[in-house]
Amino acid sequence: MSINSNSCIFCQILTEQSIDTFLFKDEFCFAIRDINPVAKVHFLVIPNVHLTFLEQWDESNLPIIGQMVDVARKLASSEGIADSGYRLSINQKEDAGQMIDHLHLHVYGGEKLRSM
Ligand code: 5GP
Ligand code: ZN
Repeated sequence: MSINSNSCIFCQILTEQSIDTFLFKDEFCFAIRDINPVAKVHFLVIPNVHLTFLEQWDESNLPIIGQMVDVARKLASSEGIADSGYRLSINQKEDAGQMIDHLHLHVYGGEKLRSM
């Protein structure tokens, strides 16, 4: 696990972008709107550390993923989708269509979501 990767767009966003970019940011994770939203509300919750796949996680990372889910829950509320409903998903590797190899949690909502 590396703390930061120069070639990773999410690491670059974390280190370079202005505070206005972030829906949320703390010592564990940050949240941004997806640049290519596929639902009316679509944002990403991303760990600050450059973790690639869930299988790299160990018990020391549990506070990070706990905070990521909690941030998703709180932002769902502030984005107005907590009552209507929303979906969390983490794409893993090729079959899931993972494009960015920095682990991230998608949060979708604001409309009726298609089932898989
Ligand atoms: P994946 O398929 O890896 O689970 O999802 C990566 C997501 O990151 C995609 O939904 C894509 O639209 C989003 N994304 C890619 N590059 C950027 C970027 O530079 N900024 C933001 N905000 N989202 C990005
Ligand atoms: Zn990264």
